[in-house]
Amino acid sequence: MSDIPYIRAKKSLGQNFLIDEGALSDIAHAIEVTGKNIIEVGPGYGALTDELIEQKPETLTLVELDTDMIDILEKKYTTGIKILHQDVLQFSPTYEQYSVIANIPYYITSPILFHFLYASSFTPPESMVIMMQEEVGEKILEWRHPKKPHHSLLSLAMEEACEDIERVCYVPRTSFDPAPKVDSIVLRFDVKKNRNREQERNLISLWKIAFAHPRKTLLSNMKGSVCDIAKIRADIERLGYDERVRAEAIRREDWKEFL
Ligand code: SAM
Repeated sequence: MSDIPYIRAKKSLGQNFLIDEGALSDIAHAIEVTGKNIIEVGPGYGALTDELIEQKPETLTLVELDTDMIDILEKKYTTGIKILHQDVLQFSPTYEQYSVIANIPYYITSPILFHFLYASSFTPPESMVIMMQEEVGEKILEWRHPKKPHHSLLSLAMEEACEDIERVCYVPRTSFDPAPKVDSIVLRFDVKKNRNREQERNLISLWKIAFAHPRKTLLSNMKGSVCDIAKIRADIERLGYDERVRAEAIRREDWKEFL
């Protein structure tokens, strides 16, 4: 178990510190760190940071919002590491090639994934290793089940931007101090090198409307939008779906037909 400095965890910042050495090592070794530009989001007091430093990255940048953690990090790491006191959602990396590792609060999982993978003002990372609530991670991985085309906006958007998405490890709630109410999973996202950003933007706009009310049919979600309803109805029929199909049941490869 890691040495934890005496500090009261702030619930409002989702502070559940990882204390399981095995999980820390799995996360730190999920991507190549040696000689690379690495950005760690939400380092806390630096448990994962220590594992990363051991692997000698080319550069290591820490982005942390909590002032108390910044004080600890600045005392602990006096040279060679960039420590930024910042909200990650306001942070724009300047590297052309880099990877992101983050054990971040559950409530910003989705905003962080969209921030790094879909930002237009900076280059997206080559890969990301992200801890998240198990249920959310399993939803992202669901597309791997051939008989289960149960999609969400988040899982579709991640699949669109990534070449591959892999499970790194499960992390039970008992691996944290304080223990959260749910178990976690760590996923690795390998980002596509060549992306059609315009098509991605159109798909995301379409999915936002299509999944606005997940229990409604695709057609009723699309009504009231600027989309051509007659075309959507014809596409649904042409692709062999029932008129009452919901967005979650549309096969991944069929979405482009609706653009
Ligand atoms: N990485 C440490 C570990 O594994 O034990 C701490 C993880 S803790 C779940 C989440 C960390 O993210 C906390 O240190 C918290 O202060 C920080 N944090 C929360 N919101 C943030 C934000 N918007 N930007 C940057 N850091 C944030």
